Amino acid sequence: MKPAPFDYARPSTLDEALGLLAGHGASARVLAGGQSLLPQMALRQVRPRLLVDVNRVPELGTRTTADGELRLGATVRQAAALRAGSGAGLLDAALPWVGNPGTRSRGTLVGSLCAADPAAELPTVLLATGGSLEVRSAAGSRTVAAAELYRGPGRTALAPDELVVAATFPLDAADTRSAWLEFGHRPGDLPLVGVGVVAQVRDGLVDGVRVACAGVHDVPWSVPVGDLPGAADRGLAREVAEAAARECSPADDHRTTAAHRRVLVRTLVRRALEQVLRPDGEEATDAA
Ligand SMILES: Cc1cc2nc3c(=O)[nH]c(=O)nc-3n(C[C@H](O)[C@H](O)[C@H](O)COP(=O)(O)OP(=O)(O)OC[C@H]3O[C@@H](n4cnc5c(N)ncnc54)[C@H](O)[C@@H]3O)c2cc1C
Repeated sequence: MKPAPFDYARPSTLDEALGLLAGHGASARVLAGGQSLLPQMALRQVRPRLLVDVNRVPELGTRTTADGELRLGATVRQAAALRAGSGAGLLDAALPWVGNPGTRSRGTLVGSLCAADPAAELPTVLLATGGSLEVRSAAGSRTVAAAELYRGPGRTALAPDELVVAATFPLDAADTRSAWLEFGHRPGDLPLVGVGVVAQVRDGLVDGVRVACAGVHDVPWSVPVGDLPGAADRGLAREVAEAAARECSPADDHRTTAAHRRVLVRTLVRRALEQVLRPDGEEATDAA
């Protein structure tokens, strides 16, 4: 199919872009890399009357690090972020799993975060790292934390006139360890389940851990890990993995069953935790 007719605008300043979004409300859509939006338009799942192409707005293309944070502008491509390395270990671990070289060369990180696919890697990375979005509209600016962002498949807390200008990820501290693991039908497919872990490990003791899953619920899921000070060992990994498998409530869909997803949650959470918690050099177990 072909998209329904639409108008196209390519502003060259941020104010111009915000003015267009303010003037057209829900009938306009921001166009970044087009890797989600254009297929959705071709299938007529969405029918914007105006596309606001933000790729020529210079300040949206910057990548900076300051005050312990990595800030990636809205038009920074996934491939560019992957090449540069980020200093946020979980992001670096997950990016190679996002799509394929073709989609990564056009697709932006912010576009993926805004597309809000529950199985996508980057929204779950944002949640696991405690990152946020910097949002602007003609009326002002605000910061939206990952935990507040997602409302359902394809739905976010962003208003139609709001433009995400950048995504911000905390940079790793010296004792930060992270891992991304996922399982899908084919390389480059969205995963059936993806798991991101970020932990602080000091002298063999866990001093804070976040675990988040993609593909399990309607929105990225933060696994409740409770209060977990303790030895960084396999017992801890098993305990959290069992709790995650118990607490999750996945659904059957055309790609797999809820029971399969639960098994994947248990296995991937355990393996990802073992990977970050094991002392340097120790091999992780492969037993499921
Ligand atoms: C073959 C193929 C395989 C794929 N595999 C994967 C995969 O394995 N994992 C994965 O996560 N994704 C996958 N995708 C999806 C795709 O990679 C990402 O969703 C995509 O990169 C989104 O970024 P974009 O810049 O292309 O966004 P666009 O498609 O331009 O925009 C996506 C949505 O976000 C909105 N948006 C974009 N930028 C902003 C902004 N600055 N402010 C407000 N709203 C904004 C748009 O209006 C639109 O609704 C795949 C896509 C294809 C075509």
